[in-house]
Amino acid sequence: MSDSLMATYKRLPIGLQKGEGAWVWDTADNKYLDALSGIAVCGLGHAHPAVTEAIRRQAGELIHTSNIYQIDLQQQLGDKLTALAGMDRVFFGNSGAEANEAAIKLARLYGNKNGIENPAIIVMEHSFHGRTLATLSATGNRKVQAGFEPLVSGFIRVPYGDIEAIRTIAKNSPNTVAVLVEPVQGEGGINIPPEEYLNDIRTICDEHNWLMMLDEIQSGMARSGRMFAFQHNGIHPDIMTLAKGLGNGVPIGACLAKGKAAEIFGPGAHGSTFGGNPLACAAALAVLETIESDQLTERAENLGAKILADLADGLQDVAGVEEIRGMGLLIGIELDRPCPELVTQALEKGLLINVTAEKVIRLLPPLIMSDEEANTLVEILTDLIKAFLNEGTSDNSA
Ligand SMILES: *Cc1c(COP(=O)(O)O)cnc(C)c1O
Repeated sequence: MSDSLMATYKRLPIGLQKGEGAWVWDTADNKYLDALSGIAVCGLGHAHPAVTEAIRRQAGELIHTSNIYQIDLQQQLGDKLTALAGMDRVFFGNSGAEANEAAIKLARLYGNKNGIENPAIIVMEHSFHGRTLATLSATGNRKVQAGFEPLVSGFIRVPYGDIEAIRTIAKNSPNTVAVLVEPVQGEGGINIPPEEYLNDIRTICDEHNWLMMLDEIQSGMARSGRMFAFQHNGIHPDIMTLAKGLGNGVPIGACLAKGKAAEIFGPGAHGSTFGGNPLACAAALAVLETIESDQLTERAENLGAKILADLADGLQDVAGVEEIRGMGLLIGIELDRPCPELVTQALEKGLLINVTAEKVIRLLPPLIMSDEEANTLVEILTDLIKAFLNEGTSDNSA
């Protein structure tokens, strides 16, 4: 392999050249069932005709102008997204990290405008918010931060799912202005908080005039079985960030805001050269239209429930399987030991999966996956897990 690329990724030994629906082909023409969707990006699968056509059409019209002009497609996408989310305004960037940067800047400006010195944002252990300096500082994973000190200050960390820890901060840290939290932790291992957690955070934020900021970059865009995961809780955040599934692979990120949070930025406060350009907005509009017309939100909920039930069935009484959990098509299988080698083993069986937080097999299948494809996924994966755990046992006893 050429070494012209910076060594930021330990890459798997295949390259993909083509995709269709839930399937991809490598450069040697081997076929794989995709249960990862490019990490929750290609929710509509690969080469979806509606997205392909929208990109093709827009590329032939106008790819980019600048945010110094009015951009009709950006306006349309903004109208559609804010209506779907029940939010008021949106800022478009090009990635998840940029969407979170906008959220963090909003929180700081909100604090400073309200006369709070050194405004602080509550963030969670095991969270992931991106790789820019502010977002890696907000991230609850030392591996992401190590070596990049000095980190950006102004973050207070508490355990995920622990509402009392947030109440304690409310008592002791009067400079707090916001809470930034994932409704379901993705990179952290598909961690699902207690059912009332988001509702309780909403209440605390209201009591203290804090902004509730949800990172829905992985959980949003129908993946959780709702268009946005917060809709399971019947609440609204003040700020929500989106990216991954929004453009089905065309880079786009969004920071949405509601009420007072929507009025914080004025002209010159923030910006982006590429953010919300006509090409990205055309792709995202096609994604939203398809999710709605093909009822993919309901599909994610039902298919997720089916896969969870089938996994529970197939892995029943298998020693070494600690927990099988999920919300829609965010699915995690936690083992009692690190299992990174399962990724390569699955590859050899024609299946794309991921392992995160060392011991959690993470599945993020496209929302368009069929029942039959899901059966194939569960079959291959349960066999692999059983073999992996058995091997481990015999190795130990040898
Ligand atoms: C992927 C992810 C990000 C970062 O998105 P990028 O587009 O890689 O910058 C932030 N937050 C969450 C929850 C994510 O899953």
